Amino acid sequence: MDAIRFILLMTGCLAIYFLPTFCGMKKRNAGAIFALNLLLGWTLVGWVVSLVWALTVEAPTHPHPTCGMCGAPLRLTDRFCPSCAVPIAW
Ligand SMILES: [Zn+2]
Repeated sequence: MDAIRFILLMTGCLAIYFLPTFCGMKKRNAGAIFALNLLLGWTLVGWVVSLVWALTVEAPTHPHPTCGMCGAPLRLTDRFCPSCAVPIAW
């Protein structure tokens, strides 16, 4: 019985310890969050930092814009497509 309670307690502690890793699993730098969580999570500061990092909203990746008509690559300063001259609505 004591062994079962010990295993349950350890499982709960590990789940709480790696909470930042679970929260940040979908992030681009999930590996870095995991490393910080694993290596510095035992310091309360490292754990809090990794949790905050995991919960921080990422800036959306900005894919290269392309013309909706012909697919030509656009610069953000273009008002008309350089390939097919369609007006660009940014
Ligand atoms: Zn175009």
